[in-house]
Amino acid sequence: MIIFKHAADLKKFLASSPLSERTVGFVPTMGALHAGHLSLLKASKEKCTITVCSIFVNPTQFNNADDFKKYPKTIERDILLLEENGCDILFLPDEKEMYPDETSKNKHFDLGYAETILEGKFRPGHFQGVSLVVEKLLHIVEPDFLFLGQKDFQQCIIIKRLISLMGIKTQVIVCPILREENGLAMSSRNLRLSDREKEIASNLYQSLLSIKENPKNEDFSTLKKRAVQNLESAGFNVDYLELAKSEDLALLKDFIDDEEMVILVAAFLHHVRLIDNLVINPSN
Ligand code: AMP
Repeated sequence: MIIFKHAADLKKFLASSPLSERTVGFVPTMGALHAGHLSLLKASKEKCTITVCSIFVNPTQFNNADDFKKYPKTIERDILLLEENGCDILFLPDEKEMYPDETSKNKHFDLGYAETILEGKFRPGHFQGVSLVVEKLLHIVEPDFLFLGQKDFQQCIIIKRLISLMGIKTQVIVCPILREENGLAMSSRNLRLSDREKEIASNLYQSLLSIKENPKNEDFSTLKKRAVQNLESAGFNVDYLELAKSEDLALLKDFIDDEEMVILVAAFLHHVRLIDNLVINPSN
């Protein structure tokens, strides 16, 4: 694996291999890698001839200074994991490389409705920060395929919009959520949970499952009320638990027929904010 710290060197390297012979897959991450990240790497390696991963804890997407400060960092282990799993290139810029001055942070993206709800509502400015860094990364790597996790469902929608605003040909591949045995969605932030908290955190997935299974055919608001109550009594502080169309995240009051939907949840367990989601296909 080759590690690049400077965008110009990476661009030069990528430009040196003939376009006709390569397909570039890109997996952007914030590090503290786990099996979820590695599943994206695997998907890229299966589809592409060159796989580039990036690790950059992007300050502009954190709306909470403490969350940024405490974001887990395991860079030596990450490099070993990427090497063992056959990553070709790691892009490892520092903050100065991505944001050489304050003006490099001054850009506004027209992200539309999807930015105003759920994560966008509870983390103001978050998706502007995500777009800022992803646009820069896409200009540097110019990937044919961009591998993203369904874990960050809304982020996938936002990045698809960003790609259409940029007018580039990169195709987004959304990969399934990898979970711990107890159902907890893998996340770098889980490193900040104790073993006991990880057990409690699995309630988040259980609450999504209970809504999806809905054995008594209850309406969404009844199911939501019960799920939120259960989560709060287990120690969570729920930001939101919502039902939406999976295509555009239009929020729904209740289940509708013949439409793929998604249930999305965000909640604090003590000091750590967790998100999860579950898709409901019209056929089941
Ligand atoms: P992050 O390092 O949290 O910014 O995540 C980098 C990429 O990995 C994003 O596209 C995430 O959606 C994806 N990812 C994070 N957690 C998981 C997971 N449990 N399963 C699959 N992909 C994930």
